[in-house]
Amino acid sequence: MPNPIENIVIVGGGTAGWMAAAMLAKLIVAKAPKPPTVTLIESDDISTVGVGEATIPAIKKYMSLLGINEADFLKFTQGTFKLGIEFVDWERLGESYIHGFGKIGQDLGWMRPHQYWLKMRNSGKVSPRFDDYAINPTACRHNRFNKRNGDDRKTPLNDIGYAYHFDAGLMAQYLRRIAEPLGVKRVEGTIVDVRLKAENGHVKSVALKDGQVVGGDFFIDCSGFRSLLIGGALGVGYESWSQWLPCDRALAVPCASVTPTTPYTRSTARTAGWQWRIPLQHRIGNGHVYSSRFTSDDEAARVLMDNLDGKALADPRPIRFETGKRKKLWEKNVLAVGLSGGFIEPLESTSIHLIQTTVLRLLNLFPDKDFDPATAAEYNAQADFEIERIRDFVIAHYKLTSRDDSEMWRYCRDMAVPDTLARKLDGFAASGRVFKENEELFAEDSWIQVLMGQGLMPRGYDPIVDNYPEETIIAYLNNISGVVAKCVAAMPTHDQFVAAYCAAEMP
Ligand SMILES: Cc1cc2nc3c(=O)[nH]c(=O)nc-3n(C[C@H](O)[C@H](O)[C@H](O)COP(=O)(O)OP(=O)(O)OC[C@H]3O[C@@H](n4cnc5c(N)ncnc54)[C@H](O)[C@@H]3O)c2cc1C
Repeated sequence: MPNPIENIVIVGGGTAGWMAAAMLAKLIVAKAPKPPTVTLIESDDISTVGVGEATIPAIKKYMSLLGINEADFLKFTQGTFKLGIEFVDWERLGESYIHGFGKIGQDLGWMRPHQYWLKMRNSGKVSPRFDDYAINPTACRHNRFNKRNGDDRKTPLNDIGYAYHFDAGLMAQYLRRIAEPLGVKRVEGTIVDVRLKAENGHVKSVALKDGQVVGGDFFIDCSGFRSLLIGGALGVGYESWSQWLPCDRALAVPCASVTPTTPYTRSTARTAGWQWRIPLQHRIGNGHVYSSRFTSDDEAARVLMDNLDGKALADPRPIRFETGKRKKLWEKNVLAVGLSGGFIEPLESTSIHLIQTTVLRLLNLFPDKDFDPATAAEYNAQADFEIERIRDFVIAHYKLTSRDDSEMWRYCRDMAVPDTLARKLDGFAASGRVFKENEELFAEDSWIQVLMGQGLMPRGYDPIVDNYPEETIIAYLNNISGVVAKCVAAMPTHDQFVAAYCAAEMP
């Protein structure tokens, strides 16, 4: 007989805490006949990390599970749309490419368009710019946005994939407004002690500064980089990936908006790191992610402040981190969600997504009070696979650079990469083939755009391409780029779309 969990305690009220709380409230508390209680503890004295404003399209699944109305959410969070990420100066200074969400062109036979383009790209008969074959990058270059219109006609609009930019603080508030009415109890206070059960070392309760003690059966550690329960109380170690991802600090600063509001995040490579630019309705979020091995804090601040598009609205806020993950995300009766479980720098905006999948995986592997170790082991294996493949994708951006103008880029260019990534790079370099493995997050089209954008042009292409007459391939490629260009020209600008669909009241 199962021995059901009666009390769940979430420690932390940042994006991770409130995402977990809202999801548990909606999918368990509101649905189960005898639901567990959910208590969230957050401290007014310990601020949230306050960044985390760019997402990937899978966030729409989270929103639909919660029944969130998109326009209402974007109005509340000052949100905008994101079609992809522009990478500036990553491959070499002066060059840029876009990693667009959604689908690239149409297949011919069973093969993706890049196979045909690789054969013809220097012929002078097709566009030499691969971006021109995909609707998302093309729309980004023209600052235009539109969504799938729901009709069944074959139009590139149906291939658009999009995500959001939003204000992280407002996002947590929005989720709190969902979670509390559904029964999540919020406790404000600072945890000063974590008590363990003598018999098995599980967490029994947390003690707050004001004397309250909050006990529970199952604890979700959303305490951010402090990692109060999983790292602190249970002593689960940390696996560092800083040999592959050397950045370990960030400075974040908002600046005034400028138009047009780009429907994409921009990431500009700097001498010892990179700078993000995330346009919201009421401001632009900026940050410089850098390696303290290769630059100083003062120089990093100067680079950031010298490269803002609008007037700075605050002083830069420093954040320190170490890329990597906890050796186990689930240990005993504690699950780490969010930064307490690890961090991969936000180059591909994957942290909020990992919060979402961590909570969804919990729903699939929900424990009872016996906490069978096999459940946690399965959970940890699935989580490791997911995060390691994301790590590989992010490392590829660093490894595949032709930059040699600074020590950091020379280090990255020359470093050995994980075997799992090396195999992908070798396969792509030979024939342009890349395969999505199992539940890996990034699809083939993402790898294709980033690997070629970073300058890894395959030596060959799929031999089946040679079965098609050149005129057929040229007509096929030109048809894709022509239809994409026409479709983008008919789209509203991103600013027009936001104004009509989800304009926020300006603060
Ligand atoms: C520089 C940077 C940029 C990022 N950009 C992106 C991005 O663009 N996209 C993306 O998806 N992700 C991004 N992330 C990651 C994203 O910010 C986080 O995944 C997300 O905010 C979740 O953070 P968190 O809730 O785990 O931690 P936090 O926001 O740090 O929240 C921790 C919570 O724990 C509470 N707490 C801590 N200690 C105690 C205590 N002793 N007692 C009581 N409460 C306590 C705090 O009060 C707080 O509520 C970025 C991260 C960094 C560092």
